[in-house]
Amino acid sequence: MGRASRDKRDIYYRKAKEEGWRARSAFKLLQIDEEFDIFEGVKRVVDLCAAPGSWSQVLSRKLYLPAKLAPDSKGENLPLIVAIDLQPMAPIEGVIQVQGDITNARTAEVVIRHFDGCKADLVVCDGAPDVTGLHDMDEFVQSQLILAGLTIVTHVLKEGGKFIAKIFRGKDTSLLYCQLKLFFPVVTFAKPKSSRNSSIEAFAVCENYSPPEGFDPKDLHRLLEKVGSPSGVDDTDCCSGWLEGPNKVYIPFLACGDLSGYDSDRSYPLPKVDGGTYQSLDPVQPPIAPPYKRALELKKASSQGVREPENLSLDS
Ligand code: SAM
Repeated sequence: MGRASRDKRDIYYRKAKEEGWRARSAFKLLQIDEEFDIFEGVKRVVDLCAAPGSWSQVLSRKLYLPAKLAPDSKGENLPLIVAIDLQPMAPIEGVIQVQGDITNARTAEVVIRHFDGCKADLVVCDGAPDVTGLHDMDEFVQSQLILAGLTIVTHVLKEGGKFIAKIFRGKDTSLLYCQLKLFFPVVTFAKPKSSRNSSIEAFAVCENYSPPEGFDPKDLHRLLEKVGSPSGVDDTDCCSGWLEGPNKVYIPFLACGDLSGYDSDRSYPLPKVDGGTYQSLDPVQPPIAPPYKRALELKKASSQGVREPENLSLDS
């Protein structure tokens, strides 16, 4: 699909370029905020799986820049935003970047160190594995990213704080809902208007972080494993026992974003400048080291009959 054609078929892709966002995902976070007011009173945030950085841009524009540019700002106590991804990201004003794997305990330690003993008010996680198209597999890998996010949450989120995480809806959605409910009394699954109906993606909006009494983050996985098992978990009223039959859970599911706003599944006519032809804009910030870059280099090298140079070998 050419860029102009994509501009036509994907209004949020076009709007993202017009408004200076690095990715159309920015609108998902903005629409979640419209519904849930997630930035209210927030001073410290962790952005997990942040590259190429449109959510970090939203955090910078909504939290950091207004505080920095306020007439009474002395440049002190500005909001703290820490962003993590496997991939490197071009800089964003007011955002501290950490390159690392969120499933690795050392990454969590680096994040915690940046908070210097303080806790975050909000943790967001838009993590997605490379999708295989095998729904069960994609859903499983996605759930592992959410659990890695939840591990970081149990170390850095303050009581009363919020956690927003991308989920893939599938057969284990009820289990995930119950696991999140162990820590958050209010969990809603939200579908922003900018997320296509054809996609199984949605977002868990978890409010008022309240870990079980006496909870030790070391016990997280043991606790989560008990949810949905026949014996269940004693200290939760939502998830004890099996999740089927009389114990079936009903998940609050909400469409969010202005309902009269743009529909991500519709094509829109392209605007012409001064009656002339339509000019497609360049991406705001192309990824600086995308995972597909090496594959392209290898393909090019093989089509030119060049032997693969050592530094391009697949396991380097
Ligand atoms: N929120 C981002 C934005 O607005 O620009 C888009 C995030 S993109 C959909 C998903 C990201 O998850 C990718 O950049 C990928 O590198 C990252 N990711 C996947 N697995 C990860 C892991 N284990 N640790 C850190 N990042 C991961």
